[in-house]
Amino acid sequence: MISFREIVTGLRQLKIGRQEPVIAHASLSAFGEVRGGAEILLGALMDTADTLIMPTFTYKTLLTPGSGPEDNAIVYGADSDNNRMAEFYKYDMPADPLMGDTAEALRRHPEAVRSCHPILSFSGIHAGPILDAQTLTDPLAPFGVLDEMDGWVLLMGVDHSVNTAIHYAEKLAGRKQFVRWALTREGVRECPGFPGCSCGFEQASAVLDKITRKQTIGNAQVRAIRIQPLLELMVRVFRSEPLACLCSSIDCDRCNAIRRQVDSGGE
Ligand SMILES: [Zn+2]
Repeated sequence: MISFREIVTGLRQLKIGRQEPVIAHASLSAFGEVRGGAEILLGALMDTADTLIMPTFTYKTLLTPGSGPEDNAIVYGADSDNNRMAEFYKYDMPADPLMGDTAEALRRHPEAVRSCHPILSFSGIHAGPILDAQTLTDPLAPFGVLDEMDGWVLLMGVDHSVNTAIHYAEKLAGRKQFVRWALTREGVRECPGFPGCSCGFEQASAVLDKITRKQTIGNAQVRAIRIQPLLELMVRVFRSEPLACLCSSIDCDRCNAIRRQVDSGGE
């Protein structure tokens, strides 16, 4: 059984300044049994970082229209069952279970604020300027502010396949982005700037390991990476190797769309 104190002690050993903002991605179960569960893991994060955000994405709002832009890694008009299941985005909609219990605990925290995007929202504490940067057309803009504020990515018992900052590096490097659609009370919203597939992102650890601080807490490996050099390194990788960090699944629509873009030499 891992205690609050053990988690705080482990996080402090990563030597992140408490003024420096953190985006955390966490798997509670990776730690083993945490006394007090997700709220305690969140409490330990808040005890070590003044400004904290986590992704609280809501994939239940996704809709597939009858038509749309070409080569968008989507089969138009083929998703009517899922369309019937789609839910209206609401500010208090729970985060998708894929985001983990800790992100959902942050979203529910009385001091937390959530950003505006109907699919790709972030929730945060004392993170106004970071969350406010997000727009419908620029969902990853919070990473620009995290970069300016000399922020950190914290991977807690998870690997780079959930590291959203790498998506921002893809965008900065000019890699293809996608369009998705969300159901909202104001109608169906077109959401450009939707990132590709992250299943292959753990390959980035070969490049990022040299700037990664590591700490074992309970059964979990926790990695801390400063966002500024992460973006510098990964933008350089994506510019010099346009197929870097794609996944190996032969029927991955988004990775295959990027391969086609590179093959055609297009934007
Ligand atoms: Zn893929």
